[in-house]
Amino acid sequence: MKNCVYCTLPEIQSRKAVENDLAMAFPTNIPITPGHMLVIPKRCVAKYEDLTVEERAAIEDLRMKLVKALKKAFGAEGFNFAWNDGKLAGQSVPHFHLHIIQRKTGDAGILEYEPRKFIYRPGEREASPERELIAVSELVREALE
Ligand SMILES: [Zn+2]
Repeated sequence: MKNCVYCTLPEIQSRKAVENDLAMAFPTNIPITPGHMLVIPKRCVAKYEDLTVEERAAIEDLRMKLVKALKKAFGAEGFNFAWNDGKLAGQSVPHFHLHIIQRKTGDAGILEYEPRKFIYRPGEREASPERELIAVSELVREALE
Protein backbone atom coordinates (compact mmCIF):
# COMPACT_ATOMS: atom_id res chain seq x y z
CA MET A 1 0.00 0.00 0.00
CA LYS A 2 1.00 3.54 -0.84
CA ASN A 3 1.11 4.95 2.69
CA CYS A 4 2.43 1.90 4.47
CA VAL A 5 6.02 2.24 5.70
CA TYR A 6 6.60 -1.53 5.58
CA CYS A 7 5.57 -1.61 1.92
CA THR A 8 7.32 1.55 0.80
CA LEU A 9 10.49 2.13 2.88
CA PRO A 10 13.50 0.70 1.03
CA GLU A 11 15.21 0.14 4.42
CA ILE A 12 12.70 -2.60 5.24
CA GLN A 13 13.76 -4.69 2.25
CA SER A 14 17.46 -4.23 2.98
CA ARG A 15 16.85 -5.13 6.64
CA LYS A 16 15.09 -8.37 5.71
CA ALA A 17 16.55 -11.32 7.67
CA VAL A 18 14.39 -14.17 6.45
CA GLU A 19 11.40 -14.77 4.21
CA ASN A 20 9.21 -17.41 2.69
CA ASP A 21 6.60 -17.17 -0.06
CA LEU A 22 4.08 -15.17 1.95
CA ALA A 23 5.89 -13.55 4.88
CA MET A 24 9.13 -11.87 5.85
CA ALA A 25 10.94 -10.69 9.00
CA PHE A 26 13.23 -7.79 9.80
CA PRO A 27 14.59 -6.02 12.89
CA THR A 28 12.45 -3.11 14.07
CA ASN A 29 14.02 0.36 14.10
CA ILE A 30 13.28 0.99 17.79
CA PRO A 31 14.09 -2.34 19.46
CA ILE A 32 13.01 -3.14 23.00
CA THR A 33 15.94 -5.56 23.20
CA PRO A 34 18.65 -6.25 20.59
CA GLY A 35 17.26 -8.61 17.99
CA HIS A 36 13.65 -7.41 18.39
CA MET A 37 12.12 -8.66 15.14
CA LEU A 38 8.91 -8.03 13.27
CA VAL A 39 7.26 -10.70 11.15
CA ILE A 40 4.86 -9.42 8.50
CA PRO A 41 2.79 -10.91 5.71
CA LYS A 42 3.98 -9.79 2.27
CA ARG A 43 0.42 -8.77 1.45
CA CYS A 44 -0.54 -5.47 3.08
CA VAL A 45 -3.36 -6.22 5.49
CA ALA A 46 -3.94 -4.58 8.84
CA LYS A 47 -5.42 -7.28 11.01
CA TYR A 48 -4.74 -10.86 11.95
CA GLU A 49 -8.28 -11.70 10.87
CA ASP A 50 -7.48 -10.43 7.37
CA LEU A 51 -4.74 -13.05 6.94
CA THR A 52 -5.37 -16.23 4.99
CA VAL A 53 -4.69 -19.62 6.57
CA GLU A 54 -1.61 -19.87 4.34
CA GLU A 55 -0.31 -16.48 5.49
CA ARG A 56 -0.79 -17.41 9.13
CA ALA A 57 1.16 -20.61 8.51
CA ALA A 58 3.91 -18.63 6.76
CA ILE A 59 4.17 -16.24 9.73
CA GLU A 60 4.31 -19.17 12.15
CA ASP A 61 7.03 -20.79 10.03
CA LEU A 62 9.19 -17.67 10.37
CA ARG A 63 8.39 -17.32 14.08
CA MET A 64 9.66 -20.85 14.71
CA LYS A 65 12.81 -20.21 12.67
CA LEU A 66 13.49 -16.93 14.46
CA VAL A 67 13.13 -18.48 17.90
CA LYS A 68 15.96 -20.85 17.01
CA ALA A 69 18.06 -18.13 15.38
CA LEU A 70 17.62 -15.62 18.22
CA LYS A 71 18.65 -18.22 20.80
CA LYS A 72 21.79 -18.84 18.77
CA ALA A 73 22.55 -15.20 17.87
CA PHE A 74 21.64 -13.46 21.13
CA GLY A 75 21.52 -16.22 23.72
CA ALA A 76 17.77 -15.68 24.12
CA GLU A 77 16.34 -17.42 27.17
CA GLY A 78 12.74 -16.38 26.65
CA PHE A 79 10.48 -14.45 24.31
CA ASN A 80 7.62 -12.01 24.23
CA PHE A 81 5.38 -12.48 21.21
CA ALA A 82 2.87 -9.70 20.66
CA TRP A 83 0.83 -7.72 18.22
CA ASN A 84 -1.31 -4.64 18.65
CA ASP A 85 -4.58 -5.11 16.84
CA GLY A 86 -6.21 -1.84 15.83
CA LYS A 87 -5.36 1.80 16.46
CA LEU A 88 -7.06 1.81 19.85
CA ALA A 89 -4.78 -1.04 20.92
CA GLY A 90 -1.68 0.86 19.85
CA GLN A 91 -1.20 -0.45 16.29
CA SER A 92 0.83 2.32 14.67
CA VAL A 93 1.46 0.73 11.26
CA PRO A 94 -1.67 -0.61 9.55
CA HIS A 95 0.14 -3.67 8.23
CA PHE A 96 -0.04 -6.70 10.51
CA HIS A 97 3.24 -7.25 12.39
CA LEU A 98 4.13 -9.81 15.01
CA HIS A 99 6.74 -8.59 17.49
CA ILE A 100 9.32 -11.15 18.57
CA ILE A 101 11.25 -9.82 21.54
CA GLN A 102 14.06 -12.02 22.76
CA ARG A 103 14.66 -11.90 26.51
CA LYS A 104 17.53 -12.94 28.68
CA THR A 105 18.78 -12.46 32.19
CA GLY A 106 19.81 -8.87 32.76
CA ASP A 107 18.74 -7.60 29.34
CA ALA A 108 18.48 -3.87 28.89
CA GLY A 109 14.91 -3.80 27.62
CA ILE A 110 11.81 -3.20 29.63
CA LEU A 111 12.68 -5.61 32.40
CA GLU A 112 9.14 -6.01 33.54
CA TYR A 113 7.37 -6.51 30.26
CA GLU A 114 4.02 -7.47 31.62
CA PRO A 115 1.06 -6.36 29.48
CA ARG A 116 -1.26 -6.52 32.48
CA LYS A 117 0.77 -3.75 34.09
CA PHE A 118 0.03 -1.42 31.20
CA ILE A 119 -3.39 -2.37 30.01
CA TYR A 120 -5.18 -4.43 32.60
CA ARG A 121 -6.23 -2.70 35.78
CA PRO A 122 -2.93 -0.85 36.20
CA GLY A 123 -1.49 -1.18 39.65
CA GLU A 124 -3.84 -3.96 40.61
CA ARG A 125 -3.46 -7.68 40.29
CA GLU A 126 -6.44 -8.84 42.29
CA ALA A 127 -8.07 -12.03 41.12
CA SER A 128 -11.62 -11.62 39.88
CA PRO A 129 -14.30 -13.32 41.93
CA GLU A 130 -15.11 -16.78 40.55
CA ARG A 131 -18.73 -15.83 39.80
CA GLU A 132 -17.56 -12.96 37.53
CA LEU A 133 -15.31 -15.33 35.62
CA ILE A 134 -18.18 -17.76 35.16
CA ALA A 135 -20.39 -14.91 33.92
CA VAL A 136 -17.69 -13.95 31.38
CA SER A 137 -17.40 -17.55 30.27
CA GLU A 138 -21.18 -17.70 29.76
CA LEU A 139 -21.15 -14.46 27.74
CA VAL A 140 -18.41 -15.78 25.48
CA ARG A 141 -20.08 -19.17 25.12
CA GLU A 142 -23.34 -17.48 24.05
CA ALA A 143 -21.50 -15.28 21.59
CA LEU A 144 -19.83 -18.34 20.04
CA GLU A 145 -23.18 -19.95 19.23
ZN1 LIG B 1 1.98 -2.54 4.06
